[in-house]
Amino acid sequence: AKSLKDGEFSEGELHRFGPIQLSPSAGILNYGQGLFEGLKAYQREDGSILLFRPEENALRMRLGAERMCMPSPTVEHFVDAVKKVVVANKCWIPPSGKGSLYIRPLLMGTGTVLGLAPAPEYTFLIFVSPVGNYFKEGLAPINLIVENEFHRAIPGGTGGVKTVGNYAAVLKAQSTAKAKGYSDVLYLDSIHKKYLEEVSSCNVFVVKDNVISTPAINGTILPGITRKSVIEVARTQGFLVEERLVTVDELLDADEVFCTGTAVVVSPVGSITYLGKRVEYGKNAVSCVSGLLYNVLTSLQMGLSEDPLGWTVIID
Ligand code: PMP
Repeated sequence: AKSLKDGEFSEGELHRFGPIQLSPSAGILNYGQGLFEGLKAYQREDGSILLFRPEENALRMRLGAERMCMPSPTVEHFVDAVKKVVVANKCWIPPSGKGSLYIRPLLMGTGTVLGLAPAPEYTFLIFVSPVGNYFKEGLAPINLIVENEFHRAIPGGTGGVKTVGNYAAVLKAQSTAKAKGYSDVLYLDSIHKKYLEEVSSCNVFVVKDNVISTPAINGTILPGITRKSVIEVARTQGFLVEERLVTVDELLDADEVFCTGTAVVVSPVGSITYLGKRVEYGKNAVSCVSGLLYNVLTSLQMGLSEDPLGWTVIID
């Protein structure tokens, strides 16, 4: 769908997946004026399809669009477009328990600009792909390295929104870490270099004496929808959850560490390496807190348990 003004997008069209045409002077190509989202559709045994809190993705895209000087689809338009694309790709949704359909909405400046300025025209598109586990470890604990040189985001920057440039900023640290055998990178704040921010594509939680702590939303970390949901699920399960500044020392001293995100769901962390020192978690015990939260969250997402908060949207 195309737009010149906020909330006013043309009726969308369905196309077979393939290359799209862009002007060489499109805003997205020259000035990184682009945002994306990520959500998943699950199929139940009876063939019905479930989305998890898609209106949260729509709202996050709207907030991001404001920061990136772009118009964005209304929440209704966004959710409706997601449903249409999922239904059109129903044959690609893995059967119940075998994975999910990852949905990638993209909003970008496709109008032409030469001098630095917001583009005069925007395109909203959605593509999908069947997916299994995000990390090659599957559900086994992942190994993170704390990054001490590069930062993902700075105060006043765009770290709090899902703009494409944030991911360009982490490519170097992430690919270097992967080449060394780590699953991903955990970033620290850029000023004190001691407070946890997040991982390249997920939020981080530490558990100490059954209290769960996670960095507060501060403008430099992405307000993850899984993060928000896990906090609510954990509180319902009787855990104390604190959103605050969390230091790297607390991370190293934690009983358990885990990450949350649409792609990674709830992934336990098996080890953290910081300044050459490696700390291992849960060696002698099963990761209890993250395992419990994983089970409660995924049963909701897959439509296997009651949904008292109305988080899932069923597509007929
Ligand atoms: N942080 C970053 C940088 C991300 O890319 C993601 C994935 N969207 C997350 C956190 C987790 O957000 P969500 O739970 O909404 O997928």
